[in-house]
Amino acid sequence: MSGPRILVTGGAGFIGSHLCERLLDLGADVLCVDNFFTGSRANVRHLLGNPNFELMRHDVTFPLYVEVDQIYNLACPASPVHYQHDPVQTTKTSVHGAINMLGLAKRLGAKILQASTSEVYGDPAIHPQVEGYWGNVNPIGPRSCYDEGKRCAETLFFDYWRQHRLQIKVARIFNTYGPRMHPNDGRVVSNFIVQALRGQPITLFGDGEQTRSFCYVDDLVSGLIALMNTPPEVTGPINLGNPGEFTMRQLAELVLELTGSASPMEHLPLPIDDPRQRQPDIGLARQHLGWAPTTDLRAGLGKAIAYFDKVLTTNEAN
Ligand code: NAD
Ligand code: UDP
Ligand code: UDP
Repeated sequence: MSGPRILVTGGAGFIGSHLCERLLDLGADVLCVDNFFTGSRANVRHLLGNPNFELMRHDVTFPLYVEVDQIYNLACPASPVHYQHDPVQTTKTSVHGAINMLGLAKRLGAKILQASTSEVYGDPAIHPQVEGYWGNVNPIGPRSCYDEGKRCAETLFFDYWRQHRLQIKVARIFNTYGPRMHPNDGRVVSNFIVQALRGQPITLFGDGEQTRSFCYVDDLVSGLIALMNTPPEVTGPINLGNPGEFTMRQLAELVLELTGSASPMEHLPLPIDDPRQRQPDIGLARQHLGWAPTTDLRAGLGKAIAYFDKVLTTNEAN
């Protein structure tokens, strides 16, 4: 007997490629759908020989007719640099993409999980963030295409659940890092590591006192799969992230220590609407999924640094 057929949209991206890999290990048949906007064939090249893996180039803003049992909807650029590059397309990906994937799930009676984000909390007035907090989001700023797109996707998920009794799961993912992040995607962890390894200045935005909570990708993938496999009454939204909270200055210092780099720090202006603090309350994830991250920042950064070191050495030798 073969395992469940699982669709992963955005499967050739950073988190998606790790998710595809883990689902295959668990015996699933995986259909990876991606338009390669920020993801790449290279991220899943090692899976292409697996008879249970299929890669399809497709943009989720267009309808998709396939046959699957479960859907993980991850398609959407996640780095501010990428999602602000074509903001209209970002909103379309979140909103039209959600409608199409929900329509697909409705036709098939398939379970569907949405990769939502801590950005739905905006610049939060509640700390740490609990799922009951409605957020503090600017609807018309440069980050809005992502934040409001994801908020609308959550709305659609809950309306399909109420109106069509779909089995939905909504994960609010906090900053996640690890191997296969794009070296130039502009996110803080990849920026700092690449800068430290190249001996370039570490670009610290603002006073560096803003905080984030960083989850290692393997932990996050375990959380997503645990959420998908909860009983139907568990819909979320459920926060998935590592509660360890660090200032960007602390992150920079840790990266410098672990790489042994002598890069200086360079202070640059804080981007507009940059949230001041971020820390997940993961009480619901502990309760419903029995899940908590097991990789601390020092250990996870070590693995990410080893990955980037290899990528840069290979790229720069070519
Ligand atoms: P990523 O950019 O590496 O992956 C996104 C993938 O979606 C890419 O492969 C991209 O090509 C694909 N994609 C984009 N638009 C598409 C479209 N219209 N049709 C088909 N494919 C499309 O980012 P990631 O970090 O792996 O993020 C994956 C998901 O997790 C996203 O939905 C993101 O919003 C969410 N998330 C990520 C983080 C994080 O810290 N990494 C935090 C919160 C939420
Ligand atoms: N859809 C899809 N694949 C399917 C079924 C539907 O991509 O297998 C898309 C279709 O384009 C539709 C959307 O999902 O516009 C929403 O579907 P739903 O059934 O909710 O709405 P309707 O078809 O009535 O617009
Ligand atoms: N940041 C920084 N230097 C960089 C990139 C980002 O200081 O080179 C800061 C950014 O201003 C934010 C934090 O790091 O406060 C996290 O940024 P990222 O783009 O990784 O994610 P997000 O803002 O979406 O959480």
